[in-house]
Amino acid sequence: MIKEKAIIVGAGPCGLSCAIELQNVGIDPLIIEKASIVNTIYEFPTHQTFFSTSEKLEIGDIAFITAKQKPQRLDALAYYRSVAERQNLRIQSFTEVMGVQKNGSTFEVKTNYKNDEVFYEADYVIMATGYYDQPNKLNIPGETLPIVAHYFKEGHPYQGQHVVVIGGKNSAIDASLELHKAGAHVTVLYRGSTYSKSVKPWILPLFDSLVQKGEITMKFNANVTEITSKQVHFQVDEKEEIVQSDFVFAMIGYRPDLALLNHIGVDINWDNGRPHYHRQTYETNIDNLYIAGVITAGFNNNKIFIENGKFHGKAIAKDIQSKQS
Ligand code: FAD
Ligand code: NAP
Repeated sequence: MIKEKAIIVGAGPCGLSCAIELQNVGIDPLIIEKASIVNTIYEFPTHQTFFSTSEKLEIGDIAFITAKQKPQRLDALAYYRSVAERQNLRIQSFTEVMGVQKNGSTFEVKTNYKNDEVFYEADYVIMATGYYDQPNKLNIPGETLPIVAHYFKEGHPYQGQHVVVIGGKNSAIDASLELHKAGAHVTVLYRGSTYSKSVKPWILPLFDSLVQKGEITMKFNANVTEITSKQVHFQVDEKEEIVQSDFVFAMIGYRPDLALLNHIGVDINWDNGRPHYHRQTYETNIDNLYIAGVITAGFNNNKIFIENGKFHGKAIAKDIQSKQS
């Protein structure tokens, strides 16, 4: 059993930020990450530009300077790598946390590293596991066909292909624009009756102009009922429609994996996916178990971002510090 004062599960921007804040109060936590650091950003579309300006993505007061106001995925990967190195953050990468349980006043953290079980003991555990690894599901026939994806990387392979994009917020609109740029025939099927207010105002005019020109087909009130290898079936106002499709991108959002928290006894509101936590300290109903980052928002992908989730660590560090004296 390896003993630690504090363990942070997940090396996303919010987990890293929390680690720096703990260092600032004299605790050097171990971060356990199942992939590489900021893996969610690594998995973004290859040429993703952030909505946020660089300084809003800064953690630990370390400047993030980019030539353009809004950084791209590669800029952010380089930034967070350099933050981890400069702060000497202790990160155990490619190690998945499989279970956390409370033994008396401490936690036992069970991990899988290269198929070996490794156990840690910690006084404090902070769960910062995000949501991006669990895409929402349509739960319709054909969803598991190989032509259906829940993540978009690049438009290039889809030149000349008929591509259906499902969803109507930023990932769906971004992917549609990239696909159109690469020469795909794009149809967007969105269940809403009008454009979502969540779509960033500087992206919508470009997208809508392509719709108005007939270069992208946009269907509102479209509820997808089945996907086959060549077609997508959907209903508009209960009328059946079919669109040809070689590939489908279901950009319908993501949800946190709440199993670890549920297993240890954290209360969860299953209607909105929000774990129970104290609004000032981020401590859950389990003493000394905290949550940080987008996991605090439950199923709502549009409430917590890096911009605001990065501040959770400061509150957590302050609370843990207050328990030391
Ligand atoms: P994550 O970054 O998801 O990190 C969680 C980490 O936990 C991951 O590395 C994961 O591998 C790890 N993990 C999960 N389970 C385990 C386990 N059992 N054991 C060990 N490790 C585990 N936000 C902004 O503020 N501005 C933007 O411009 C912006 N642009 C975005 C663009 C796109 C396309 C997307 C999808 C999101 C964007 N976001 C943006 C949102 C941003 O990505 C998230 O808010 C941010 O990644 C959340 O940080 P986090 O640390 O809470 O979680
Ligand atoms: P999202 O914001 O959760 O949007 C999901 C979309 O899919 C919504 O339009 C939703 O419809 C629809 N949907 C959900 N479940 C569905 C179902 N079962 N059937 C049909 N449609 C369904 O997800 P996202 O667009 O992937 O965004 C995820 C996060 O990444 C957000 O925080 C977003 O801001 C961020 N992001 C940022 C950038 C950027 O910075 N450039 C780009 C992309 C994404 P409703 O509209 O009816 O809810």
